[in-house]
Amino acid sequence: MKDTARHQGMRNLLARQLTEREQYPISDEKVLQAIRTIPRHLFLDSIFEEKAYQDIAFPIGAGQTISRPHTVAFQTELLQVSEGQKVLEIGTGSGYQSAVLVALRVELYTIERQQELFKKTQLFLSRIGYIPKKMLLGDGYKGYPAQAPYDRILVTAGAPEVPKELLAQLKVGGRLVIPIGKGEQIMTVFDRISPIEFSKQEYGTFGFVPMLENVQTRTR
Ligand code: SAH
Repeated sequence: MKDTARHQGMRNLLARQLTEREQYPISDEKVLQAIRTIPRHLFLDSIFEEKAYQDIAFPIGAGQTISRPHTVAFQTELLQVSEGQKVLEIGTGSGYQSAVLVALRVELYTIERQQELFKKTQLFLSRIGYIPKKMLLGDGYKGYPAQAPYDRILVTAGAPEVPKELLAQLKVGGRLVIPIGKGEQIMTVFDRISPIEFSKQEYGTFGFVPMLENVQTRTR
């Protein structure tokens, strides 16, 4: 698959639609620019190519999905990153959200628990040139203590509750964005305001695949 002027046109349209939504319209120009730049159709199976720039989620293999463009844009906007910040992402999946963060020039560490997806996405991201600082096969519930603390942590799977390890790996002044809930999730933002205090804000309801424990080396 190639990236063509037609795909560019579809991306521009998608970015505009994200700004015109009624619920949680996206206004961060840097996030919109990343959406306009990254060839989302290449992250999907070619049978979905024509729909890659509609605001829908898709299967990416191993029983997982690539989040809807609006969900990716909204989570990224909530994360409020700036260039050079150290960011931990839980749930690499297709790598699309990772590419958005790399485009925003953060130092990205990203963790995936499914070996099959991990390998596929590692190869793919290096092929298209959106390369995180480090990609890890592991259980995101544990975070990645070796590089802690982080300016930002983003969870892209539905967590039944907020993992204590992730809160512990935030810098003071840092922020965690995490969808919390079983079935449906409430988008939740935690700010670490002191070593022992966190503030919490809740946004709308979203649908994510569940955050599961332990590494899975085979899907069948
Ligand atoms: N950010 C991804 C979203 C993929 S869906 C994208 O843009 O495509 C969520 C991903 O989280 C899945 O790939 C799933 O395997 C992974 N996941 C679920 N629980 C996890 C855990 N405990 N640690 C790491 N990854 C996890």
